[in-house]
Amino acid sequence: MALVDYTGNEGRIPVLVVMRAQAGPEEIARVCKKIESLGFRPHIMPGAERTAIGITGNHGPVDAAEFEDLPGVTEAIPVSKPYKLVSREVKPDNTVVMVGGFPVGGREMTLCGGPCSVESREQILASAWAVKDAGGQLLRGGAYKPRTSPYAFQGLQEEGLKLLAEARAETGLGIVTEAIDVETFDLVEEYADCAQIGARNMQNFSLLRRAGRSRKPVLLKRGMSSTLDEFLMAAEYILSEGNYQVILCERGVRTFADHSRNTLDLSIVPAVQKLSHLPIIVDPSHGTGKRDRVHPMALAAVAAGASGLIVEVHPNPEKALTDGYQSLYPDQFRELADECRAISDLLARRRENKSPVYVN
Ligand code: PEP
Ligand code: MN
Repeated sequence: MALVDYTGNEGRIPVLVVMRAQAGPEEIARVCKKIESLGFRPHIMPGAERTAIGITGNHGPVDAAEFEDLPGVTEAIPVSKPYKLVSREVKPDNTVVMVGGFPVGGREMTLCGGPCSVESREQILASAWAVKDAGGQLLRGGAYKPRTSPYAFQGLQEEGLKLLAEARAETGLGIVTEAIDVETFDLVEEYADCAQIGARNMQNFSLLRRAGRSRKPVLLKRGMSSTLDEFLMAAEYILSEGNYQVILCERGVRTFADHSRNTLDLSIVPAVQKLSHLPIIVDPSHGTGKRDRVHPMALAAVAAGASGLIVEVHPNPEKALTDGYQSLYPDQFRELADECRAISDLLARRRENKSPVYVN
């Protein structure tokens, strides 16, 4: 009997049931039923080559033979990584997450821009048009702000969410905005196209679980000092609740370097891509904390293979209530967008084995 030992401590050996390429929906449904009858939760992960079904909720050994005898099953295998559903072992093909109708993780890079905080109707609409005019797809802007000081501006809250919805109606951009706690998650979910979980909340496990029960995509930012495994395990919380639409975001980590607010750790982009099917984007604004560093690091992020960027842009950065010193002027944002797209297109063309167009 092929016993799969799963202790639950390290989460090392859950079962992944791999279906034959030809397996039909009834065979897949039968495996899911079997998993549920054992008291576990099935997660169907469709792929280009084959469908796999991940099992979570098992706190004891799972007998692989229980599944291997079912029709349509190729094998039931252990997953060697502590995370399961985010792992490429479970789903070899890249996940493309749709936000407000725009793909993140597809062939083209996705550009999200906007102010740190929503401050007023004029400010958010001007920001939205700056993003739209630069060819961006998504508008960012915090309505709930996680601030170091309790006395600092905390965001316009529901009023801010309403203004974001207004900006979407005017421009067609998708809306990304932060949810800072379980209590206000419902409201954010109602207005936004994608709920952001910020660096300070990356290991807020109840918030992660709530995001996992959402029907909206989630942008999960890397914690201030989190390792790759901690980052992926945080995403695993969201997927384990049934929400597979997760975008990861590198936003810099705290180091001894004092020339910048954070150290943008671009090497995590290929590291994530090797281990996980989830798309990863980069935030060069919080990653550097200084306006003049944002553009070069955005270029580097795209060259490193990031699926997109999230960048702070403000119509009047000197007057910004939060993060003005790292917010771009609209014309700087447009230049960033143009150059990043040029790099992204060049790489995409080369990878498709077409010769790039060189301009002398
Ligand atoms: C933000 O996006 O404005 C923000 C607070 O980001 P982070 O959580 O990465 O600090
Ligand atoms: Mn900010």
